[in-house]
Amino acid sequence: MSLFDSHCHLDFAEFDDDRDALWAQCRAAGIERLLIPGVCLADFQRQAAVVASCSGTVAAYGLHPWWQQHHRADHLQLLANWLSRSECVAVGECGLDLAIDGADLALQRQLLNAQLALAVDFNKPVVLHVRSAHEPLLNLLKAFRLPKGGVVHAFSGPPELAAQYARHGLKLGIGGTISYLRAAKTRRTVAEVPLDWLVLETDAPAMPLAGYQGQRNSPLQLPLVLTTLAALRDEQPLALADQLWRTSCELFG
Ligand SMILES: [Zn+2]
Repeated sequence: MSLFDSHCHLDFAEFDDDRDALWAQCRAAGIERLLIPGVCLADFQRQAAVVASCSGTVAAYGLHPWWQQHHRADHLQLLANWLSRSECVAVGECGLDLAIDGADLALQRQLLNAQLALAVDFNKPVVLHVRSAHEPLLNLLKAFRLPKGGVVHAFSGPPELAAQYARHGLKLGIGGTISYLRAAKTRRTVAEVPLDWLVLETDAPAMPLAGYQGQRNSPLQLPLVLTTLAALRDEQPLALADQLWRTSCELFG
């Protein structure tokens, strides 16, 4: 069984003490591939270094709305240079987040627009972050035909919302959220939608699974996300893993 963690911030400082050992454990546990999404220009060099030392990992480069205060006008231009590098398989993470303090929708929209245009120019998928902003995001997506689709990372919502994203060629990133009973809508969605709409992720070090709150999340938890998904769909984990692996590889090359 091969697993692909489609969203893990393995370059973050939380992993500085044990990154190489942890990645070796992941490989031994069948986690063969892992995508490290970008958040701001200052971190891209660090991501590239981690990808170089952890074989099987790849990178996406993008400007995340949470890091808005770090982004400068010329960063989009500099981002373009990073997108043509060999370790880069996607643009992101980028998106809209209206749940953060002082969220400026106009500014976020401008930044996302530019990055979606880069995804078209560079013929790459996008890694999208969205919180409390599905409506404006879906509106903005109408203006683009994304050549390689992408993923709505940490998806949560009802099946109808999932279908709207699927129409744009976007997969749903499924992580620890589905382990919480209170996430009833999302649990119903992942049980009902076609399997080839889904990819797995941990979003580590964030988003610990139920029962692990307050601890650092780890890509080693990916098999637990898989078995949770399998239980919700009443299917065998092995059968699911096969399709999830294929979807992730098609998406991220
Ligand atoms: Zn993330």
